[in-house]
Amino acid sequence: MKAWRFHGFGDLRLDDVPEPQAGPGQVLVEPLCVQPSVTEAQLAYGIPTLAYDRVKRRLETEAPVQLFGHEFCARVLATGPGVEGYRSGDRVAARAKLPCGTCVLCRSERGDRCRAGPVIGFDLPGCFAERAVLPAVALVKVDDRISDGEAACLQSLSDSVAAVETAGLQIADAVAIFGQGSMGLECLQIARLSGAGLIITVDVREEACRVSRELGADHALNAREIDAVATVRELTGGVGADLVFECAGGSPRQGLAGHETLRQAIDAVRSGGKVVGVSWFGGPVELNIDLLRERSLRYLFPDISTREHLEHTVRLVASGRVRLKPTITHVLSGIGEVPRAFEITANKGRFRAINPAQVVMRDS
Ligand SMILES: [Zn+2]
Repeated sequence: MKAWRFHGFGDLRLDDVPEPQAGPGQVLVEPLCVQPSVTEAQLAYGIPTLAYDRVKRRLETEAPVQLFGHEFCARVLATGPGVEGYRSGDRVAARAKLPCGTCVLCRSERGDRCRAGPVIGFDLPGCFAERAVLPAVALVKVDDRISDGEAACLQSLSDSVAAVETAGLQIADAVAIFGQGSMGLECLQIARLSGAGLIITVDVREEACRVSRELGADHALNAREIDAVATVRELTGGVGADLVFECAGGSPRQGLAGHETLRQAIDAVRSGGKVVGVSWFGGPVELNIDLLRERSLRYLFPDISTREHLEHTVRLVASGRVRLKPTITHVLSGIGEVPRAFEITANKGRFRAINPAQVVMRDS
């Protein structure tokens, strides 16, 4: 079968590889729709971010290697021994980070806290291929009301569900969200469903602000036109937001906000409030911790998403409570378009993309 393999950073080739077989606890699937995550798209070009060192080591020691492809919708073709609950024809999506199954956490029903297991696309081959073998424990069945394209967003949505849960949002909290890319828009919708009061979003792209208003922001501020921090403070009676999600930081070369939106998030949150760091910065960030200490700020990071989070995303999207379609801006057709999807996703600003670019794997 055909699979995209990395021969080095920026060197992606559609190679012939052996047909994978479903072993015990595994499911053989045909990927229907796949999107590179923003992290994967940056790593593909060797841009430092989450897991850079791990990917670099694998390329140096194992290339060519099948990497990435954990955000997908796939159809089950066959199940291996011991797999229950999945049948040929079922559509599935997955969570990327899996429990190891053997550590003391996993053996005491606290596997959701385990960080020792494999990650799909990083330790296990993902779905940029004609077929893939995945651990059944990673999968969730996709409801018929969810399209293939929406299902490919469920993994990212489950991370956003985990981010909002980590935030410990209280009913009527004033919430500000810096960055209205896919995760910013997801946090917006989940915060709204979770009882947020006033919701203020910030982006520098007018099209992202427009989608943000459509998906329920009370105020979607364009930071190119106004002082976002001053406006958040003004809209919250001068005290700042109870809760701020920082979803815009990252490499300015990729059109992201650098460290600036983290400083803005800290300036926009009220004393005693919480900043939830969703972004990856790709390197150390200079931060005045005394300022956080003085103002009793909580700087939190989202927990990893669990099976329960992923199952919840299926309910949210199937029932129409979270809308993903307005965020899907670029859809490509055919497995040959995978490199183009990486290019668009690594440069979302330049391509005016909101969600990562999706690839419908079979030519239509
Ligand atoms: Zn474990």
